[in-house]
Amino acid sequence: MSYLFPTYKKKEIQLTQGKGAFLYSQDGKRYLDFMSGIAVTNLGHNHPSIVQALHKQADLLWHGSNLFHYEVQEQAAKQLVEKSNCDAVFFCNSGAEANEAAIKLARKATGKSHIISMKQSFHGRTLGSMAATGQAAVHEGYGPLLSSFTYVEFNNVDALEAAVQEDTAAILIEVVQGEGGVHVINEMYVEAINTLKQKHNLLLIIDEIQTGIGRTGTFFAYEHYRLDPDIVTVAKGLGNGFPVGAMLGKKALIQSFQTGSHGSTFGGNPLGMAIVKAVLDVYEPSFLATIRTQSNEWVQELKQELSTCSIVKDIRGSGFLIGLETTVEAQQVIHRCEEKGLLLLPAGTHVTRLLPPLTLTRQEWEEAQTIIKTVLTDIEQNG
Ligand SMILES: *Cc1c(COP(=O)(O)O)cnc(C)c1O
Repeated sequence: MSYLFPTYKKKEIQLTQGKGAFLYSQDGKRYLDFMSGIAVTNLGHNHPSIVQALHKQADLLWHGSNLFHYEVQEQAAKQLVEKSNCDAVFFCNSGAEANEAAIKLARKATGKSHIISMKQSFHGRTLGSMAATGQAAVHEGYGPLLSSFTYVEFNNVDALEAAVQEDTAAILIEVVQGEGGVHVINEMYVEAINTLKQKHNLLLIIDEIQTGIGRTGTFFAYEHYRLDPDIVTVAKGLGNGFPVGAMLGKKALIQSFQTGSHGSTFGGNPLGMAIVKAVLDVYEPSFLATIRTQSNEWVQELKQELSTCSIVKDIRGSGFLIGLETTVEAQQVIHRCEEKGLLLLPAGTHVTRLLPPLTLTRQEWEEAQTIIKTVLTDIEQNG
């Protein structure tokens, strides 16, 4: 019997330890982790420099509230600003909280409340971020919702143009929809966003909670495109497993988030900040270049390997955020791979999502590829 609300369907695996690309269970089994805790442990489990930063800060100071200055908080913010097109950072504790901050800031800065978000998007589970999410299943039973969102079909330019109103403050988008099935933005849509943003003076909010922190081979996924967001939200990979989120915004927005306008007790605490700093230190340009090269080559190879497999419909994504669409249900693929020691995620009913740690080795990739090929071939031949 469990004392938990059963809000998650749990696997029959009890995890006890992690190291690099591997997780270990209580019964002594080893799993190759292509879930990364849902795009969180991008640098693998127990990354030495991050563990060291945690231990060092744990001996100094965990928390003192946002009523004080911390050098480490300023340093973490500076690093995020330098890696982005933004000028200021608000720290919080999760992705949903980062999006809440973004929604509030967009309203305050524009004096408007309508936000256009995408069908099949995912922005979180709090009341505001849930309302921003374009999935009926996420909304069910929680009405009335915050009503100021319009959901438009992703990559449909006409639908986007038609959704702009007098009261529209912002467009909120993931450049690769993660939970929604691994769908990548197209160039025409990028241009349409830029045109509408200019014409109607809209803010562009990019949710980089899953796509950011190197996942797609650039630090933020928007860097692959001619996109200039006003607000960027991150979380997941930012703490590599330590709960932390952040909202980044451009200079013109700073005046709208002044003393007393928003807050978080835990957000930006020195323990979290020391970890964020250690995480960001790893993202040197050369590391990002390696992620780009390896993901390009290895995903190409996966496509090649599976090119004759009739149950594979599509392999798509960006960097190491990969969607494998099959004619069979993703849960079947995932379950069979799990039996062979490979952990994968679904993204919708027929898309299996691969989220390997960005630090994985060639050998680890090959191990996963072999398992996937074996499983898909077996399903193809024997059901
Ligand atoms: C996971 C996710 C969120 C929500 O983050 P939480 O930390 O679970 O609140 C928001 N947006 C995207 C794109 C995500 O993948």
